[in-house]
Amino acid sequence: MTYTIQPDLEPFPDALTQSGSTRPGFATRAVRTGHRRTHEGEHGEPIFTTSSFVFDSAAEAAARFSGESPGNIYSRFTNPTVRAFEERLAALEGSESCVATASGMAAILAVCMGLLQTGDHLVASRSLFGSTTLLFNKYLSRFGIGTSYCDLSDLAAWDAAIGPQTRLLFCETPSNPITEMVDLRTLAELAHRRNCLLVVDNCFCTPALQRPLELGADLVIHSATKYLDGQGRCVGGAVLGDRKRVGEEVYGVLRTAGPTLSPFNAWVFLKGLETLELRMAAHSQGAAGLADWLAAQPGVAHVYYPGRADHPQHHLVGVQQRGGGGIVAFDVHGGRPGAWGVIDATRLLSITANLGDTKTTITHPASTTHGRLTPEQRAASGIGEGLIRVAVGLECLVDIQADLARGLALLPGQ
Ligand SMILES: *Cc1c(COP(=O)(O)O)cnc(C)c1O
Repeated sequence: MTYTIQPDLEPFPDALTQSGSTRPGFATRAVRTGHRRTHEGEHGEPIFTTSSFVFDSAAEAAARFSGESPGNIYSRFTNPTVRAFEERLAALEGSESCVATASGMAAILAVCMGLLQTGDHLVASRSLFGSTTLLFNKYLSRFGIGTSYCDLSDLAAWDAAIGPQTRLLFCETPSNPITEMVDLRTLAELAHRRNCLLVVDNCFCTPALQRPLELGADLVIHSATKYLDGQGRCVGGAVLGDRKRVGEEVYGVLRTAGPTLSPFNAWVFLKGLETLELRMAAHSQGAAGLADWLAAQPGVAHVYYPGRADHPQHHLVGVQQRGGGGIVAFDVHGGRPGAWGVIDATRLLSITANLGDTKTTITHPASTTHGRLTPEQRAASGIGEGLIRVAVGLECLVDIQADLARGLALLPGQ
């Protein structure tokens, strides 16, 4: 086994390439990219549930293994359904390469293993997905890779945190849960001036609302578990970027270490991508409506939503982010008892930490997703005891409001 470069599938064009369309729009790419129809003439994308692939001869097997002839060998390396998902997502993010992974965390791990070594350092925004912080602090540190944290929107702090060993800057924008944003174009310029790569976790926006590579970022990672699936069914992830770093370095880790995506999950995500643009528009519209309604409720002290004019980085909506996204956070009066009261009074919303589902979910970050942080760390991230996060699904807005109104009525007003 000598080759570790993701095989190029260009010799086998999909229907979109064959159509000769030179600049297909986002929705067209989301529906049409990546499916190479087989001799059966199937209309829907097939699921290739096979662990290995058969060769015509010993010589062909040898040519495949050496990389001389492109094609499938084993599903840890490539699988046509997984490849279709990778190509479709690459076409949406505008990247040269995409590698699918078993989960969002596997995507982050593969980036770190592929691009970093002992002695390297990375700088990350303080408000990160909890497992990402744990991966950096508990596991990367064991291999001599250090991490420094800074406030997401404070560009001077990013600059100050970069040292001679820093290789990567890592951020999520908007952040979880209070939807803070950073100017990606400026952060990418800063990264490149200091010889670092910018990695963006684009889980909250998806390429339907934000394309970090077009803004200068070097790599994008996804938890496909969230909006790319869109209906809370499967766990998966992806890494996107240029051919050398993603198609070679990150792909090499995946095919060797093994946290690759299953064909069934890839198929679910493929179908999810077809409706991504419609869903993200609907999630954003619902969240914008809910944010404005919450801001008018007496029990609510503050609403965090990028689409609202009182959001500190509101100016970035329309510049780097098309729409506010589906996540709304809000502080209620009455601290933890107040917040838990609102959550416990819901009958329709799901009390779960997942997001990006058609079903609206509600979470108390201080005692769940961010419960491991110290009170000081939570305060630094703006996560108070009265904070509630809602990931707005696709139900009717009035029904979501009615479900929240029951608990909000119990709160001390101001
Ligand atoms: C869920 C999530 C992850 C991790 O993804 P998994 O698929 O659960 O491994 C990473 N980043 C963000 C922003 C997430 O929401």
